[in-house]
Amino acid sequence: MASGSSIFSIRQTVFFNKAPDLQEYSLACMAAKKGKFMRPVNAGNSPLSNIVYAFHFDAGLYAKYLREYAEDRGVRRTEGMVDSVASSKENGFIEAVTLKSGAKIDGDLFIDCSGTRGLLIQGALKTGYTDWTHWLPCNRAVAVPSETGRAPEPYTKSIAHSAGWQWRIPLQHRTGNGHVFAADYMSEDEATSILMNNLPGKPLAEPRVIPFTTGKRNKFWHKNCVAIGLSSGFMEPLESTSIHLIQAAIAKLLALFPDRDFHQSTIDKYNEQTHWDYDRIRDFLILHYKATEREDSEFWRYCKQMEIPSFLQDKIDIYKASGRIFRENDELFNDVSWLAVLNGQGIRPSGYHPLVDIHSEEEIDRRLQNVKSVIDRSVETMPSQSDFIAQNCAMAPEVQS
Ligand SMILES: Cc1cc2nc3c(=O)[nH]c(=O)nc-3n(C[C@H](O)[C@H](O)[C@H](O)COP(=O)(O)OP(=O)(O)OC[C@H]3O[C@@H](n4cnc5c(N)ncnc54)[C@H](O)[C@@H]3O)c2cc1C
Repeated sequence: MASGSSIFSIRQTVFFNKAPDLQEYSLACMAAKKGKFMRPVNAGNSPLSNIVYAFHFDAGLYAKYLREYAEDRGVRRTEGMVDSVASSKENGFIEAVTLKSGAKIDGDLFIDCSGTRGLLIQGALKTGYTDWTHWLPCNRAVAVPSETGRAPEPYTKSIAHSAGWQWRIPLQHRTGNGHVFAADYMSEDEATSILMNNLPGKPLAEPRVIPFTTGKRNKFWHKNCVAIGLSSGFMEPLESTSIHLIQAAIAKLLALFPDRDFHQSTIDKYNEQTHWDYDRIRDFLILHYKATEREDSEFWRYCKQMEIPSFLQDKIDIYKASGRIFRENDELFNDVSWLAVLNGQGIRPSGYHPLVDIHSEEEIDRRLQNVKSVIDRSVETMPSQSDFIAQNCAMAPEVQS
């Protein structure tokens, strides 16, 4: 047993030393570093067949596009401020909303997309909110767009500050910037000043502070009302998951679309699945904070020491013990994403899968070298993101002006 463990640790050292920088084995990472981008192509075993990506876009332009798309397909839009909500005395179902103009709009199913206040799901139905501030303590963002002086980088930059972090999201016509911070640890003035001193170009507007409380609704669907978007909860933008959650909610609602009976089992299934989605994203976000090595501010000391959900603790423990990561059910972030944060935040496993021992050191070396050179060659063949944009999605002149 004693000699077994010493071989174990020797192999472990050799193994880790052979792949000191995991980024070199990631196509997405190496392409991002070289300013390259393309969509996946049908290239057999090549990593170019499996490129995964997300979009940076102007949310205002995207909303306009979606509105036109929906209206072209028959959606009727009534502009107005909702003033009051009428519910059935019999079963509490929402019957109608009345606008400030006096117009009354009735319906069978109501989707609450009124933002964080949750006009219907909370205002009318009082479903309650689970507050996650003790796990995700940031509760303000100050945001400002700035000029972008050069070709946009193909990645979001997240920069840690003493009581939160800053986002930098490059678009073709501007850069989106924001500082997400915990108001218990930093004033709005200080957060704004840190942001304004860290812009990549001239600001294009006045900075705007947006307050929020991280957490989720106790019920996302209650009676005949489904909360989608910020009315359903908010987990802060560190992994840009809100619009994904909107899309996932729409897909789930279509799959579980009710008839007029609103069977409770259908509603329960929707809530169960949405709670799962929320909780797993929450855990992934908490990891970013919990795994910090920083101790230079009260905020980061709190994050390092806080108790975390048991699901997350189990993931960290399994990874630390054996380097293994399991994606459970349909959780959004896959093993590669978890590895990026676990390893990127400095957590190192103390063991590895015993099957590795089937191979000799030379064989492991050869395989690692092979993966690295396939990645290098694939990145070489990719176009720059600027060329990709010019060929596929250059901005319209009216956006530029
Ligand atoms: C700081 C921050 C950063 C974010 N970053 C990202 C990101 O990187 N990626 C991502 O996917 N998502 C991000 N999000 C989330 C994203 O902004 C939301 O998912 C998106 O705006 C959709 O939100 P929503 O429509 O639910 O709410 P909102 O955008 O708040 O819209 C709510 C609407 O309801 C209207 N309304 C309110 N009350 C009434 C009333 N009484 N009558 C009529 N209308 C009413 C409001 O006028 C508003 O138009 C971020 C959010 C914040 C706060």
